[in-house]
Amino acid sequence: MPTASLPSPHSRLTRALRLRCPSCGARGIVAGWLRLAARCPHCAFRPDRGEPDHFLGGYVVSLGIAEGVAAILWVVLLTVTWPNPPWVLMQWAAAVLVVVTPVLLYPFTRLLFLAVDLIAQPHRPGDFGSEDPTFK
Ligand SMILES: [Zn+2]
Repeated sequence: MPTASLPSPHSRLTRALRLRCPSCGARGIVAGWLRLAARCPHCAFRPDRGEPDHFLGGYVVSLGIAEGVAAILWVVLLTVTWPNPPWVLMQWAAAVLVVVTPVLLYPFTRLLFLAVDLIAQPHRPGDFGSEDPTFK
């Protein structure tokens, strides 16, 4: 149950979808399309939560969504064009989709995974570094 000091799960998720810090809602946590800042410039929250492989969650979610979208589009195109599907087009479109879509989705899925992680495990020691043990 969210308290006055903790954002609601909905708030954390919408902040992530807007590419903002799921902890405080400020901009600047995305340092590049495929990279997050080491800390939020506003609240100093560490998006890796002290785990060097924390990015894998966002990567797996991004890959899963991309594969699912490519599979659905492939089946729809196959159904619509049956009995003469454009096999070459479908082959190349699927290849491009499974490569490009995860890259396009990555910052969103990375922050969504972080938001879900924050919902499941609210702020813990080390999220703001050793110099700031306060939990927001
Ligand atoms: Zn922040």
